[in-house]
This record gives sequence, structure tokens and C-alpha cells, in this order.
Amino acid sequence: MKEKIYRFMIGRNGADQFSRFLSFAALGVIVVNLFVRSAVLSALCLALLIWSYCRVFSRNIPRRRAENERYLALRYRVTGYFSGLTDRWKQRRDFAFFRCPGCKAMLRVPRGKGKIRVTCRKCGNAFERKT
Ligand SMILES: [Zn+2]
Repeated sequence: MKEKIYRFMIGRNGADQFSRFLSFAALGVIVVNLFVRSAVLSALCLALLIWSYCRVFSRNIPRRRAENERYLALRYRVTGYFSGLTDRWKQRRDFAFFRCPGCKAMLRVPRGKGKIRVTCRKCGNAFERKT
């Protein structure tokens, strides 16, 4: 039986992070639907599961891989944003944070120094800010 499954999966995409995310999203929708009981959510859940399984059994591996890459890039941006928020929250007493007007990079300067001239380390843009 294991051998059969193995042979069936040759040349197929298999479970990647994006497929797993889709299954978890479907699971989340099921849990929500226990309370809401909506036909739309049931359809959404089914669609997510079908999408997930189609990706797992897909033979178009380059395309599935590209999708997975896009998903990972997006996930990285979201988790990066939140870990940035918690870091800033921990350091809020000692440092002030703002974005560079030139390149939008997040800059950190010591708090309580009055008006200072900030030079962006990423793009070299200089501007004045009160801290
Ligand atoms: Zn900059």
C-alpha cells in the first residue's frame, strides 16, 4: 500500500507549505462554521480543501513551486512586520522609531535628545526629527 502511494506521488508536487496553509485555513473555516453555520463558509471550506489537494497532486511542479515561493514571501513579510512591532514595543522607552522619507526603511534613534539630524543608513537620506 505504501509502495502504491509512493509510486502515485512520483512526479507530483506533494504537500508544500502553501498546501498546508490552505488545509489549516479550511480547518479554521470549519471551526468558525460550527458557530456560524453558513452555507457560504461551507462552500469556502470545500473550495480551500479542493485547492489544497489539487496542489498536492499537481504534476505542474514549476508552477506550484512559484506559487509556494510567493506564499512564503508574503508570510515572511507578515511575520516580519509583527516581529518588528514587538521589538519596537520592547524598546519604546529608550528609542524612537520612524520611517525614512526616502526609502521607507524603519529607523531607530535614541529618545530624549531633542531635535536631531538623522541619516538613513540604507539610502543616505538625511532629515531632522524631534525625539
Ligand atoms: Zn532611507
